[in-house]
Amino acid sequence: MNIEEMKELLVNACKVLAFAGQKDGIWGHVSLRLPQKDLFLMKPWGFGLEEVTAEDVITVNLDGQKVEGTRKIHTEVPLHSEILRARPEVNCVIHTHPLAPIAFSALDVPLLPLSNECCVFYEELPVYSACTDLIREKSRGEEVAQCLGGSRAVILRNHGIVTAGTTVGEAVMWALFLDRACQTQLLAMQSGGPKCWSTREDALGRKAKQGGVPGDGRMDAAFAYYVRQMKLGGCCQ
Ligand SMILES: [Zn+2]
Repeated sequence: MNIEEMKELLVNACKVLAFAGQKDGIWGHVSLRLPQKDLFLMKPWGFGLEEVTAEDVITVNLDGQKVEGTRKIHTEVPLHSEILRARPEVNCVIHTHPLAPIAFSALDVPLLPLSNECCVFYEELPVYSACTDLIREKSRGEEVAQCLGGSRAVILRNHGIVTAGTTVGEAVMWALFLDRACQTQLLAMQSGGPKCWSTREDALGRKAKQGGVPGDGRMDAAFAYYVRQMKLGGCCQ
């Protein structure tokens, strides 16, 4: 894949996230590692996820400095640079502010295996609580990367979510799944509270089936569906 195709891929990720309900004004961002392992593409500041184009995409190094592109860089770049530095197998990092995970994180309860999407994060959903401010400093980015560990996603309490995939499809789909998982548990809690959920054995089995195994291509196929839906103007939810 050449750099122009990678920029288009990043733009499609941004647009699918927006289309699936994760847009938040000009905030939220996606990064994609370049073959030169210490460089990555990133959505610029000042544009919504839904309106960014390939020409707007900037190139950034692992020190969080823009090295190419005319648009401005997001101040929360350490989220991306420090996760990409800490996780060599990760190629795509996403940070968005979906309402359900933010509200869910304020309740300080574990995510129960109530649905397929909930099971994807079963026993694998760290919550970063050291601060609730924007992640603008390298040290904060390092803390988030450490909290994320080897997981697919981390919730930034009272702030948003971060997902990390070996592919763009994984990072996007896990962002969509995490939003839907939190929506499901909030709905159950609003309806009198969950009374039953999957056993640990079932939850672990469903986790791999629904969420795929990093690098197996299943999330890329799911992402391709959402790209088609987005281009058709259909409904992503
Ligand atoms: Zn943020």
